[in-house]
Amino acid sequence: MLWSKSFVQADSSCPKQSVKLRMGDKGRAWDGFKVGSHVHYVIGETLKRKGAKLNEVGASFAHKLSIQEMVSVNHMLSNFEEMQIGIPERSVIEQSYCSVIEQGGSPVMWEEAPAWMERGDEWNPSLAKETVWRFQPDAYFLSQDGTKVFCIDWKTGWSSPSDTALMADIQAITYCAALCQMTGAKEAEFQWWNLRWKKGQSVARSSEEWIALAKPIWAACWTKDRYKTTEIQKDERPGEHCGRCPYSEECLVVVPEHLKKDDKDLYLYSLKLDQLAKKIRGEMKSRLKERTGVLDIGNGVTLGPRIVTHKKWKRGEKEHGMRKVLELFPDHLSLTDVFDIKGSIGSWLKQLPDTLREHIDEHIEEGSRQTLIEKEN
Ligand code: SF4
Repeated sequence: MLWSKSFVQADSSCPKQSVKLRMGDKGRAWDGFKVGSHVHYVIGETLKRKGAKLNEVGASFAHKLSIQEMVSVNHMLSNFEEMQIGIPERSVIEQSYCSVIEQGGSPVMWEEAPAWMERGDEWNPSLAKETVWRFQPDAYFLSQDGTKVFCIDWKTGWSSPSDTALMADIQAITYCAALCQMTGAKEAEFQWWNLRWKKGQSVARSSEEWIALAKPIWAACWTKDRYKTTEIQKDERPGEHCGRCPYSEECLVVVPEHLKKDDKDLYLYSLKLDQLAKKIRGEMKSRLKERTGVLDIGNGVTLGPRIVTHKKWKRGEKEHGMRKVLELFPDHLSLTDVFDIKGSIGSWLKQLPDTLREHIDEHIEEGSRQTLIEKEN
């Protein structure tokens, strides 16, 4: 079967989803990657047309972007320009390669991938009869002396990997290992460029190190291909990713219905729940007001009308009192600790050191209010 870093990541989230993708089942497309795809397309095409400018390249699917999405695209494209990522003219842009993988995880030979391995009209991963790994660097180039290969990848997502995650990244490992094998470079460096945050990260290793890390991944793909696809399809792992899954509408796995909703419906559903919660709280309070006694439901929560007392500033004396605390503030106390006010004035006063509180007692008085739900701190 055909494998790539995306298929491995999909397999980690849900093996059923991944095997269906590899079998060429198209399913329903998720549109959350629209902005990222557009940015990648424009940058890739611009770099391929040596000397072209970013604003000279348009995409046939640009009309599908909303105004906000267009703004986001333009923001990332101008970031890309400002970041001045070093991509020499000799770089190879968005060329995809593939190799058959043997038992044990050894690639046979890296060569340019055929059209049916490209996401597009001819895309058909079911044509892979053996275990095949495909990868497509955004850009790569060899150092002038041919000893080091640089693999450049621009990211359009919101998150940046931690340094530890970066060291174990499937994409970096497999891309760098394959590029070392293809080019004969002794070393490879993977560079991530986050176009939202204008941030670059990189990791470099020797060819032997990259290959030693990649082989177990490729070997596991080979092994997984020995299992029946019907059995793999039984391995359903539902979660948040179900909303992005092309097969969520037909998948019979029992998960809370909201996990299968698309982004818009999930947001509307969360609003509905907020409103429902408000309505329920209102109705509950009306009912609790009628109680003539309180109900202790455990965990420090009491339901029913109660009068609770609290401390409050005397009318018009708040500023005076606060200024006094500041003036008398001793050096050994931390200003940020004392003024880290969470909750009511009563809780703040409780935590205020006695040496300070006694000076403002004259500005404080006791108040009372009715509560219907009382929670012990
Ligand atoms: S809907 Fe969820 S459980 Fe079903 S195949 Fe997709 S990701 Fe897996």
